[in-house]
Amino acid sequence: MNILLVAAVAAFGLIAGSFLNVVIYRVPRRESVVLPSSHCPACERPLAAYDNIPLISYIVLKGKCRFCGALISAQYPLVEAVTSLFFVTSLLKYGLTPAFFLAVFFLLVLLSVSVIDIEHLIIPNVIVLPAIAVAAVQIPLFAFTKLDNVSLMDQAYWLWPVVGFLIGGGLLFLLAIVWPNGMGGGDIKLAALMGLFLGRYVIVALFLGFLFGSLGGITAMSFFGKSRKDLIPFGPYLALGSLIALYAGVPLVKWYLSISGLG
Ligand SMILES: [Zn+2]
Repeated sequence: MNILLVAAVAAFGLIAGSFLNVVIYRVPRRESVVLPSSHCPACERPLAAYDNIPLISYIVLKGKCRFCGALISAQYPLVEAVTSLFFVTSLLKYGLTPAFFLAVFFLLVLLSVSVIDIEHLIIPNVIVLPAIAVAAVQIPLFAFTKLDNVSLMDQAYWLWPVVGFLIGGGLLFLLAIVWPNGMGGGDIKLAALMGLFLGRYVIVALFLGFLFGSLGGITAMSFFGKSRKDLIPFGPYLALGSLIALYAGVPLVKWYLSISGLG
């Protein structure tokens, strides 16, 4: 692959990550993501363009505001770096195809929702519902244009995203009925969205999400003094399961079927 293309996509990923930071900070506070321009959360002074360069400004300013010296959260450069990484890994996997844009969009939704869920214990509708609408676009895109060689998972057959949507949303809806304190409406909508992108491989994402969630819950209770009653954000675990299912779901299922003697 052209190294210049990879570098350009990585740079664009950093800029997208910078915007994602604005979304992560402002959406749960019900602020506009467009106005006002970026400012220091401590002294509220607007940032000059040269203090707002993804990753680089954080390093140059040594993680402190130029005016008031307040510490800038390491979350900002981290989100920028991870976003850029998602752009590059998706480019390497899919090339510059419609699947690349869908994969990047899906991963950025997962990343922003995870960070917001960790900080505020909510998965905002204003992110997940429009994302469901965007994800629904891929059904005709892949089904009727016969772009099956570039589909994200197995969208070549239009039914799979619909099946995934129903499995993801339906399974978490049932869980929310039997376990109302553990699962929220946000988790249900997120799982339905995952199904649209992952098709039947949403089962892999949910399995891994519950596995990581249980391990995380046990860790939180044994080492961090959390009790069973404490709310633990579940979105990040669903997101991590989705990331693995997206990149490795197909070989994982093949491997599982071979060791279980089913395939
Ligand atoms: Zn400041």
